[in-house]
Amino acid sequence: MSSISMLIGGEQAQARSGATFSRANPLDGQIATTAPAASPEDAIAAVDAAAAAFPAWSRTGPGERRALLVKAGHALEARADEFARAMAAETGSSALWAGFNVHLAAEMLVEAAALTTQIEGQVIPSNVPGNLAMAIRQPAGVVLGIAPWNAPVILGVRAVAVPLACGNTVVFKGSELCPATHGLIIQALQEAGLPKGVVNFVTNAPADAGPVVEAMIAHPAVRRVNFTGSTHVGRIIAQRCAAHLKPSVLELGGKAPLLVLDDADLDAAVNGAAFGAFANSGQICMSTERIVVDAKVADAFVAKLADKAKSLPLGDPRKGPVVLGSVVDMRTVHRVNELIDDALAKGATLVCGGKADSTLMPATLLDHVTPAMRIYRDETFAPVKAIVRVDGEEAAIACANDSEFGLSSSVFTRDTARGWRIAQRIESGICHVNGPTVHDEAQMPFGGMKSSGWGHFGGRAGIEAFTELRWVTLQTSPRQYPF
Ligand code: NAD
Repeated sequence: MSSISMLIGGEQAQARSGATFSRANPLDGQIATTAPAASPEDAIAAVDAAAAAFPAWSRTGPGERRALLVKAGHALEARADEFARAMAAETGSSALWAGFNVHLAAEMLVEAAALTTQIEGQVIPSNVPGNLAMAIRQPAGVVLGIAPWNAPVILGVRAVAVPLACGNTVVFKGSELCPATHGLIIQALQEAGLPKGVVNFVTNAPADAGPVVEAMIAHPAVRRVNFTGSTHVGRIIAQRCAAHLKPSVLELGGKAPLLVLDDADLDAAVNGAAFGAFANSGQICMSTERIVVDAKVADAFVAKLADKAKSLPLGDPRKGPVVLGSVVDMRTVHRVNELIDDALAKGATLVCGGKADSTLMPATLLDHVTPAMRIYRDETFAPVKAIVRVDGEEAAIACANDSEFGLSSSVFTRDTARGWRIAQRIESGICHVNGPTVHDEAQMPFGGMKSSGWGHFGGRAGIEAFTELRWVTLQTSPRQYPF
């Protein structure tokens, strides 16, 4: 069991009240981590510390910030084994997933480092003689970042990396389900030598999330909020931000469709579908949730995908390499078992897998899913996936768009021009032709539409999100006034 601290103004901190909460391993119920249960006052102290560090940090040159972020990337990678142990203990995820998390998160830090010299402005022709007019981007202030447990290293780093590169200071609110994993990110950032108060870390008991987050959003020094998590909580955050007029980036739930057209390379589609559906036991916002397949090729495709799904190793990740580890909790198991019951009662057929009685959930495929079934619309966030058979391209596109969500999607076809045309008609922030729905790279504009949220994290889109755009002029000759 590990016992962790928050970080406020460069100092390890417990909650002022001394309160703690614990996170248990999803498989055996053993306490994995004990962490401070912050009150709103603790959270405000963290924002105060970030606000105090802002003037000096916002004036650092890009070279200094770049060097620190590159160092942080290396420090993160050096802790890969610790991350794998913490993730297996707190969320039950596989070493494969932990390794990918650390690798991509380190790349995000290095990419953020590179962005420090890409924060560009513009000289805009002015109608006023002798007036030099510029659009410049400045650090915004304190950025509050909130990330969930499912891709904990990637999403935790994403919440702070570009904000720091842009000269902001940050408060990172860790997830109640993986406080030690999120704490390791903070340790790596500290190891890199970020000045005191530039990064602050707050942990809270699940019941306190609302008031703790509300207090931070309301704090005048907080100028940007980013939130990755469920659409339900995203709506709450959006409302709080609206009340205080704080811009936000919201990365929320998904129900990604993967379209298999009648001319698809079925082996490529099977590999893409299996990876997108079952990586991290389907607990990825971009996970393939609906496999929409043309009826002409459906029998052949489903048979091949079932063979692949049945071959994926499932087990306790602490005992050896697996593809499917544990899902995050028994609540997920009960919720998804109900979705399976509902689908079967309404005429779906079970191709492989089935209901689970522990958090080790098998790769499960339900065929002949229709809009009447809950699994057609509800995010499973588990290795249980719906196959919808459709007649032709138009029906496939209509099915893809028949969702409140719009994060990721993909289309498999041998005709790439056809794939390109369809990609433009799918209502999702991200679409891959002949690639899986699960694909993330640090420099890409990652973001969703509809109930999957708004705003973007990666690359230049991240700079726009986490800087203040200002119009500044310099009058270089005597100015003429009308009176
Ligand atoms: P969640 O929304 O339940 O929790 C996320 C965070 O919200 C936690 O830190 C929690 O403390 C906080 N929170 C909870 N209640 C709150 C309240 N009342 N006020 C303020 N904050 C509150 O998310 P989860 O279930 O842990 O994560 C899974 C969800 O996240 C899925 O829906 C998944 O699709 C989504 N997700 C999206 C992305 C993306 O980039 N779009 C990435 C990963 C996960």
